[in-house]
Amino acid sequence: MTERVWNFSAGPAVLPLPVLQEAQRDLLALPGVGISVLEISHRSKWFDAILEETEANLRQLLNIPAHYRVLFLQGGASLQFAMVPMNLLGDGSADYIVTGSWGEKAFQEAVKIGKARIAWTGKSEHFVRTPRPDELDIDPNAAYVHFTSNETIQGVEFQQEPPVGEVPLVCDASSDFLSRPLPIERYALIYAGAQKNAGPAGVTIVIIREDMLERTPPNMPAMLDYRLQAEHKSVYNTPPVFAIYLVMLVTRWLINEIGGLERMQQINRQKASLLYEVIDQSNGFYRGHAHPECRSVMNVTWRLPNEELEKAFLQEAQAHGLYELKGHRSVGGCRASIYNAMPLEGVHALRDFMRDFLQRKA
Ligand SMILES: *Cc1c(COP(=O)(O)O)cnc(C)c1O
Repeated sequence: MTERVWNFSAGPAVLPLPVLQEAQRDLLALPGVGISVLEISHRSKWFDAILEETEANLRQLLNIPAHYRVLFLQGGASLQFAMVPMNLLGDGSADYIVTGSWGEKAFQEAVKIGKARIAWTGKSEHFVRTPRPDELDIDPNAAYVHFTSNETIQGVEFQQEPPVGEVPLVCDASSDFLSRPLPIERYALIYAGAQKNAGPAGVTIVIIREDMLERTPPNMPAMLDYRLQAEHKSVYNTPPVFAIYLVMLVTRWLINEIGGLERMQQINRQKASLLYEVIDQSNGFYRGHAHPECRSVMNVTWRLPNEELEKAFLQEAQAHGLYELKGHRSVGGCRASIYNAMPLEGVHALRDFMRDFLQRKA
């Protein structure tokens, strides 16, 4: 098959077509360089320029202040689950707000490394919502508070930062990074694996406030040391050159073709509301997993009346060119990941199919 289908995968996920086309052109020889993007040295001038532009684009898109550093690391968001406590915890204790599977994993990793406690968890309610401010039990002396801005599996998204007072706020933003503007100054550290919304698998972006770099204890293994990675500008060792290059192309696309993150957010909200509308108007045939006020704009999760209908839905959807709609096994049902690069047209196709299926089966 060489035709592209609508890919609703949660990650690795759809990338903008113009980005893939440009990468394809540069795969044999970079213009003016004569070497492929897959072959070029990470110590080359060319790659210096790539790193510089990628960082500058991120700074422009997110309005990142000068006293924050931008790092490009490996090991995925999952390594950040360990690096955050290894670098920031010291002898202190960290608070975790758990709104889904990824937040729970981050917490479980933290307790292997030091002291961590749960400031709130939605587990007993099957992770259907974010906490109200008055439900949060934040330790004012915590080393940091960790939360997951968008729980990719459950489809639960914070509409704004949880109120944590003066405690440094740390966020796993893997699946909504670059989907909307962020008040960076509210955060001490934000991290995101690229393969959901920012690029391909292989690079993890970390935005860290400079004073946090001073917390890293001595004798930290080099690759796990934020301060050392910052000192070496993310090229302490060979970075994932190709993945960073693609993040550069994606950020260029966001700036030049979309027009920035406010516009991107409008488009994303428009896409999500098309699907939530069908769910809400289906008389309970489609049942959204998340409470309406914390529904994800990136990952739309829903169930059908029974597993047989869910199976039929997924099979027929695929026959219509709508792929990767199966929900995560821990939630079941369906999930449509509609990241930045999913065109409105793809969401229209899914919306029309959902309506049609409803009419035939309800
Ligand atoms: C996908 C995902 C992860 C895990 O990312 P890896 O890069 O596979 O380690 C962590 N957190 C969130 C919110 C995710 O969506």
